[in-house]
Amino acid sequence: MELYRLTIHDAHELLKKKEISSRELTESVLDRIEAVEDRIGAYITVTKDQALAHADVADESIKNGDCMPLTGIPLSIKDIICTKGIPTTCASKILEGFVPTYDGTVVQKLKAAHAVIVGKTNLDEFGMGSSTENSATKKTRNPWDVARIPGGSSGGSAAAAAADMCIGSLGTDTGGSIRQPASHCGVVGLKPTYGRVSRFGLVAFASSLDQIGPIAKDVTDAALLLNVISGHDPSDSTSVPRGVPDYTKVLVSGLKGVTVGIPTGYDKEGIDPDVADAIQKAVKVIEGLGATCREVILPHAEYSVAVYYLIAPAEASSNLARYDGVKYGFRDKSSEDLLQMYRSTRSTGLGTEVQRRIILGTYALSAGYYDAYYGKASQVRTLIMEDYKKAFEACDVLLTPVAPTPAFRLGEKEEPLAMYLSDIFTISANLAGIPGISVPCGFSREGLPVGLQILANHFNEEKLLKVAYNFEQATDHHTQRPKL
Ligand code: GLN
Repeated sequence: MELYRLTIHDAHELLKKKEISSRELTESVLDRIEAVEDRIGAYITVTKDQALAHADVADESIKNGDCMPLTGIPLSIKDIICTKGIPTTCASKILEGFVPTYDGTVVQKLKAAHAVIVGKTNLDEFGMGSSTENSATKKTRNPWDVARIPGGSSGGSAAAAAADMCIGSLGTDTGGSIRQPASHCGVVGLKPTYGRVSRFGLVAFASSLDQIGPIAKDVTDAALLLNVISGHDPSDSTSVPRGVPDYTKVLVSGLKGVTVGIPTGYDKEGIDPDVADAIQKAVKVIEGLGATCREVILPHAEYSVAVYYLIAPAEASSNLARYDGVKYGFRDKSSEDLLQMYRSTRSTGLGTEVQRRIILGTYALSAGYYDAYYGKASQVRTLIMEDYKKAFEACDVLLTPVAPTPAFRLGEKEEPLAMYLSDIFTISANLAGIPGISVPCGFSREGLPVGLQILANHFNEEKLLKVAYNFEQATDHHTQRPKL
């Protein structure tokens, strides 16, 4: 058996029955990474020794009769979440040499759950991008077609899960960075409600939008990961003190009584016909399972790209001011005075897209322009939130594509605006703080995965998971794996 192909829940059964050990499973995943990393480029750091040590701890606890759902399961983590003693680069030159002295809360939780951490995955620098091409470290390729991008910014995590280079992963989503790469790689990605998961130890990009969530091989695995990482954390004032249900409880058959909304108000012109076709078929399947479908209007959805690309860069310009070459990370040592040192450190240490966002954001926040740009964007953000509030008075969930097209070719979108426009379906969920999931819903004629996005109201992750699970059970898209 190729153990690296297992899901979390299947591996758990075998570990519990002691038919396999965590060491065997971990070695299988590490061998898989070694075999395909050259072609995929999913990892920035592989933590082989640490992973084997974690596996031995897990095996010991299984021997003592303690096998929790994640015990002994090899997972990867996007390299924007701090890991004690393991470099955390954000795929940026400016964090060269930075080794965190503490674990982010989600990492602490995974460790307490006796999961095995196999490595840190590639991303667009600081999470800024939709293709992982903005990484200063390496290019990640889509396992379904290595000439194409895996999506971004959690492209390394999604590619690793799709190529069986980990059993599951954690990504982050500021404007779609979990859902869009999951969609492009044919795996499941869930962005939780803002405040559901602690962001302590997550390197900040845009603090009012960032959220950590699972990227997994199926819906059950996403629910299992969410169970462990959710919950209030006194170290993150934006995490909400609210109980965490067992998210696997809702994974049962039947969608009777569920009302599904199909939003209008987006420009449908840019949608690839294969994507439109797959989404239409998915809606039919969900209707066939007993749900009632209706159209809903999101009148301000069309402004979400413009709003996001003011708010996210504004917050980023403030968050990234800390990378000045003084306290940690890269410093350009050739400068003669302090001001020159700041200037050259930042212009050589930060990539083009990150610099573009800092400049855009600084401009949008500057005196005289603040009201016209940041202020206006914040007002429209409120209108977008109200659209969703109204929609969820009439519906339990909304269905949309995740991305307007399947994965594009490396180098295809050099124009920043073309890249930004590909986020049209994902970013409004971050602006509103609501949860969203991407589930595989078919393939384009060229054999590229297409994802269905399901959105729900704040803290209604259970509704997302229930609809996603029922859809998954009724279809076989999630069982397809790329041939590598
Ligand atoms: N693609 C979006 C951006 O470039 C979203 C990124 C993200 O969610 N981290 O900002």
